[in-house]
Amino acid sequence: MEPIIVFFYVYVFVFGSCIASFMNVVIYRVPKELNVAKGRSFCPSCNKTLKPYDMIPVLSWIILKGKCRFCGEKISIRYPLVELVGGLLGMFCFFVYGFSFMTLISFSFSMILVSISLIDNDTMIIPDSLVIACLIVSIISIPFTDISWLSRIGGIFIISVPLCLINCIVPDSFGGGDIKLLGACGMMLGTPSMIVAGFIGILIAGIYAIYLMVTHRVERKGHIAFGPYLCFGLFIGLIYGQTLMNWYLSLYGL
Ligand SMILES: [Zn+2]
Repeated sequence: MEPIIVFFYVYVFVFGSCIASFMNVVIYRVPKELNVAKGRSFCPSCNKTLKPYDMIPVLSWIILKGKCRFCGEKISIRYPLVELVGGLLGMFCFFVYGFSFMTLISFSFSMILVSISLIDNDTMIIPDSLVIACLIVSIISIPFTDISWLSRIGGIFIISVPLCLINCIVPDSFGGGDIKLLGACGMMLGTPSMIVAGFIGILIAGIYAIYLMVTHRVERKGHIAFGPYLCFGLFIGLIYGQTLMNWYLSLYGL
């Protein structure tokens, strides 16, 4: 690999982990309805404002050995992990799309999906503000994705409407947030990729639900957060949806 390419990957990793560091703030503040743009980052335990050198993605956590500089309270390993994942997702999007606007679009999308996944996992709620963020990314992506309008409009409804109908028959089987999220992303992914996304999300969530039932670990009145599985499906759908759909159709000689 050329040194300049290595430099770009390192740059993208650092950029990605910094954005993910901000997403940690989003994940913490949005469910509490705090302003994400206002106020410096603080320790949730002692409320002391963090020093800039305590906010270096991944590294600060390692240097501080996972403890607050002031009160010694443990800092969850989730923070550096989200930053690490952000850096890796940045590299992955750059690997797939290279010097293209789609790198930025897919990376922004992945960061919103990570936030939705963790918030849904924590609170069983997908905040509307993050669904709107997905919708904005969806709209911005339109000139950069080669998908027909028919496919885009189909994408909005192809999974969201069936889930909505299931919800009418079996109330609370899916959250309203899941359905809104599917609608918001449909315009960007188009119909075939949305089918792939829905299939992957439902398949993995189903396997996990069966695992919980078999091992008798079902909690929260038998509900699991569907968001994280759906988000994973949507990200794979955006990047590999068309490829996976073509491969699947080719099995039937189509
Ligand atoms: Zn503290």
